[in-house]
Amino acid sequence: MEDCLFCRIVAGRIPARKVFEDDEILAFHDINPARPVHLLVIPKRHITSLATVDDADIPVLGRMLAVANRLAAEQGSPDGFRVIINTGRIGHQEVQHLHTHIVGGPDPVGPMLKRV
Ligand code: AMP
Ligand code: ZN
Repeated sequence: MEDCLFCRIVAGRIPARKVFEDDEILAFHDINPARPVHLLVIPKRHITSLATVDDADIPVLGRMLAVANRLAAEQGSPDGFRVIINTGRIGHQEVQHLHTHIVGGPDPVGPMLKRV
């Protein structure tokens, strides 16, 4: 995926502040953090979004969630965190490569959504 921002990060063609990687996933700091801790965890293999996953993606999805607690604790959010997966137009997904946001820090992140 030549024109995919996160594939370019995986390929090392765009720098990122990496905090973890294995053969299937990569985690790095969000460039525009919304909270003191704001990490992104992505599959190294291009998956567009949660709307396009299939059964073959189940292991990598599990791995993306399974690292969240450890990464949050290591990066300064040991007492909990929030995982967000924005999906598609309604979910306000801006980068079309599946990613989990891990947000947290010393203070609670606040209500889940503002009620409309
Ligand atoms: P989303 O709206 O869920 O697609 O979120 C995309 C996220 O990617 C945003 O929080 C951006 O700040 C973040 N982002 C965009 N470009 C980069 C980059 N080069 N390195 C790290 N994070 C990025
Ligand atoms: Zn990609």
